[in-house]
Amino acid sequence: MKKNTEVENVMEKIVSLAKRRGFIFQGSEIYGGLAGTYDFGPFGVTLKNNIKRLWWKRFVEEREDMYGIDAAILMNQNVWKASGHVAGFSDPLVECKKCKRRFRADHLEDKKKCPECGGELGPEKQFNMMFKTNVGAQEDEDSISYLRPETAQGMFVNYKNVLDSLHPKLPFGLAQIGKAFRNEIAPRDFVFRLRELEQMEIEYFVNPTIEAGKEGSWQSVFDHFRLQMHDFVEKDLGLAKTKVHELEIAPGDLAHYSKRTIDFEFDFPFGKKELYGLAYRTDFDLKQHSQASNVALDYFDEESKSRFTPHCIEPSFGVERTVLAVLTDAYQEEASEKEGEEPRVYLKFSPKVAPVKVAVFPLLKNKPILVEKAREVYATIKKELGAIGIYGVEFDDNGNIGKRYRRQDEIGTPFCITVDFETIEKDAGITIRYRDTATQERMSVSDLVKKLKENLAV
Ligand code: ATP
Repeated sequence: MKKNTEVENVMEKIVSLAKRRGFIFQGSEIYGGLAGTYDFGPFGVTLKNNIKRLWWKRFVEEREDMYGIDAAILMNQNVWKASGHVAGFSDPLVECKKCKRRFRADHLEDKKKCPECGGELGPEKQFNMMFKTNVGAQEDEDSISYLRPETAQGMFVNYKNVLDSLHPKLPFGLAQIGKAFRNEIAPRDFVFRLRELEQMEIEYFVNPTIEAGKEGSWQSVFDHFRLQMHDFVEKDLGLAKTKVHELEIAPGDLAHYSKRTIDFEFDFPFGKKELYGLAYRTDFDLKQHSQASNVALDYFDEESKSRFTPHCIEPSFGVERTVLAVLTDAYQEEASEKEGEEPRVYLKFSPKVAPVKVAVFPLLKNKPILVEKAREVYATIKKELGAIGIYGVEFDDNGNIGKRYRRQDEIGTPFCITVDFETIEKDAGITIRYRDTATQERMSVSDLVKKLKENLAV
């Protein structure tokens, strides 16, 4: 573990870069912010969309057994009673008797003394993290609703709708990407712990009578998703394999609905922390909802002519934690060879997630002949890549070329293309500059297009 000041420095630099370059801003910043909320700027939203698109492609589009849904954020309050959230979705809270600050008791090393002022801490209370609201003009018990604290329940309450409309055979899954809200006691670490967040979740239903070792058993499905989660992290996001660790939750620490859970932890600058979770939720949720709603949520198996409640495997991913893992993993500082010069800072994004994939420049901005040619190269690349579904080509003629390289490095653009006088006078093609090595190469526009297609195809 790095020293505290070192960690703070790295995080400060990343937060500052994210703001300076238009990735992530503090929520409601001009009013002093709102704790636990962040707004995504132009490059942040593109990075987030690229991540969500890769996830949807891998887990929904490329499969035959997955059905996407998009459920409402506001749900009938009985959903949250049946799921156990009204009674139990809480964290232990303690308040300092002296300074009145509040802390999550399970995050404190010393449960008696305030970490801020040293005052005495009061008794531990359970604090429910759901945001409560009322639906409609009446504010009474019946109109209570909650902003969903997870997307998962949207899948369980739509299990029957999908079964009745598309008639999938087991095993099959429902997948959803959407917002969730948690009134966290102590939001912290930039976009790691938020009060408004986005999740990408799957509820995958299996036949519980299939024995371990056979295809379709919960054990084999659990292992399948375990590998898929690693593949997503390594092949789609391009994160360093060595920074991802599995944590098998001990039987005594499992949530009441789970028979097995693995947390996927990531080496963030501030420590090894949960990135994703994979849980075997048994038939807990479908049974609870079936009992509470009086609607049968079971499955009729044609082959064995038997009826049962499917069991469920849940891979769960946080979008912002993914963004943070990608940002912190990508952040690089390269010392300059020249004395007194600032280090080169660049984001080593995998081309698949990079918000800008190619930037095209004229060497000088006030030479119309260069600008015109650069615009032409830009249009060609944009059209050729757009035809195979790759976007993120930028034209940049701001400031001088050094400044443009610095900006594109900090945005994490893998390829910069420059049109210079030789391009026009000698028909010598363009130069391509590689972000990670800062080296350049000259090539024809047709070779460039080929190279970009090879390197950027998803
Ligand atoms: P933690 O222990 O960190 O509070 P959790 O175990 O409660 O997380 P889950 O309920 O399993 O988290 O949620 C699934 C995923 O949603 C997490 O793995 C994480 O990626 C994301 N997530 C959960 N809470 C937050 C939050 N407050 N801010 C950002 N992402 C979150």
